[in-house]
Amino acid sequence: MSKEDYETIIGLEVHCELSTKTKIFCSCPTEFGAAPNTHTCPICMGMPGTLPVLNEKVVEYAVKAGLATNCEISRNSKNDRKNYFYPDLPKAYQISQFDQPLCEHGYVEIDKEDGSKKKIRLTRIHIEEDAGKLNHDEFGGGSLVDLNRAGVPLIEIVSEPDLRSSEEVDKYLKKLKSIFEYIEVSDCKMQEGSLRADVNVSVRKKGETKLGTRTEMKNMNSFRSITRAIEYEVERQIDVIEDGGVIEQETLRWDEVSGKTFSMRDKEDAQDYRYFPDPDLVAIKLSEEYIQKVKESLPELPESRKQRYLNDYKLSEKDANLITSSKYLSDLFEEASKICNNPKAVNNWIISDISRILNETEMEPIEIPFDSKQLGKLVILIDNGTISSSIGKKVLIELFENPRDPEEIIKEKGWIQISDEGAIKEVVLKILKANPQSVADYKGGKDKALGFLVGQAMKETKGQANPKMLNQMFIEELKK
Ligand code: ADP
Ligand code: MG
Ligand code: ZN
Repeated sequence: MSKEDYETIIGLEVHCELSTKTKIFCSCPTEFGAAPNTHTCPICMGMPGTLPVLNEKVVEYAVKAGLATNCEISRNSKNDRKNYFYPDLPKAYQISQFDQPLCEHGYVEIDKEDGSKKKIRLTRIHIEEDAGKLNHDEFGGGSLVDLNRAGVPLIEIVSEPDLRSSEEVDKYLKKLKSIFEYIEVSDCKMQEGSLRADVNVSVRKKGETKLGTRTEMKNMNSFRSITRAIEYEVERQIDVIEDGGVIEQETLRWDEVSGKTFSMRDKEDAQDYRYFPDPDLVAIKLSEEYIQKVKESLPELPESRKQRYLNDYKLSEKDANLITSSKYLSDLFEEASKICNNPKAVNNWIISDISRILNETEMEPIEIPFDSKQLGKLVILIDNGTISSSIGKKVLIELFENPRDPEEIIKEKGWIQISDEGAIKEVVLKILKANPQSVADYKGGKDKALGFLVGQAMKETKGQANPKMLNQMFIEELKK
């Protein structure tokens, strides 16, 4: 049998750090990047005899995440201890949720290539604490523990095994990321580990209804690695089965450099963790009013914004997807459009030049240095003929390099568009005189020659001549 005879099955456990100011069970700050072990206290260092107190904001953020992903919110839930030993976990147990998670039975929708939608079901979303971080090999080959991250609140989003390819996984993760950014429960910075996924992969022969044995790749935090790792792992599993072998259920580590997965350990079962209710924490009981209040506090979600862009602004599906994929881009689009009253133009700037620069510089939308006022103003200056769109592109580059009022930029650089009839005529005559061959071509019926002449005039004026006026003036003069 060949690769085409197999189906890929993927389920994700996504960990997302919540952006509360303080940790889940103590008042230490959650901020990333502090000196090691400075954001710690006896509680998050796991000293015996200390008592955790649940941070209310964590519950609120998790309920928001649940509501935004169509989950049912449990009225009764609790915290459990998940026992295991690891050097970054001084208590030797992680406080998590076992059989009564805060949110259950949700789904998010992804867009398929053919334009249809696919629901990816969420089994559950629960709250838990993050562990510390081990820094390996930095100090003479040993490992040191940094407990700043211990006790940072997480939500874990567990999906059903509904994903069928690395493309679907990519879409699903991007969708989750954008939802959490919109509802402002996490900054979702993958390079800082705020969003990371355990990727469970299995394969089965097409037509088979039973799931195959899965392997799990832990703690993946880049879209690119996740795609590569899935593709590698699927092929590896098929090869094993085709060679008459069986897949072992195990935890794997993806190695970015070799592009391979390696076995870390056999998979634990739930009973290995010996879960039990944490006796130090009270049960979490949520009232209808509370859930209703959180519901009302939710902002507009990407899907609804997208529909609005399709209906009100007549954007294409592709453009609306790109813009709403990031809350920041979407805000930029809406605010700049309001300022210049030309959403089509703002859309074009975002999907073409701005996106290209973001890609080239590997910048996240949130890092765009200019604001919606400046972008709106740029569009106005083009629309009212002060500058041409080719000068506009130069202004945009300035906005990325040293953001300021576009009007100031063009004054400073002397980039005002030449719309003075006399000046335009002077350039046109000069270019006609210098290019007799093109003139003859045009008169002989070659319309293309006009484009060449306009191009020459643009060059002559360093892109500052009003292109519409140039065109008209050339046509007029060539008639003579
Ligand atoms: P744990 O890894 O904590 O033991 P679960 O049993 O809850 O957890 O499953 C974890 C994830 O593995 C879920 O996202 C689920 O969809 C996925 N999963 C379960 N079985 C398979 C399978 N056969 N193939 C791929 N994914 C699977
Ligand atoms: Mg798992
Ligand atoms: Zn603490």
